[in-house]
Amino acid sequence: MDDNQQDKEFSYATKKCPECYTYVKLHETKCPSCKTRLGEVEKHGMAKRTFDFNAYLFAFIAMLALGIYIWWAFL
Ligand SMILES: [Zn+2]
Repeated sequence: MDDNQQDKEFSYATKKCPECYTYVKLHETKCPSCKTRLGEVEKHGMAKRTFDFNAYLFAFIAMLALGIYIWWAFL
């Protein structure tokens, strides 16, 4: 964590986390304070939220597996 490192050109060197509004360096892909995945900087200096595909995929597979298990167990 190097939060104390202040950049003089902060308005160009940072983006804002959409979850907790912490300023994060442009190249960071994860917010250091709330662990949100961050995308590219947008017009307003806000970081884009990235679509966490793996998390969705995992949730979907887990639901599917559970569904198949229930279907298989009761038939
Ligand atoms: Zn954050």
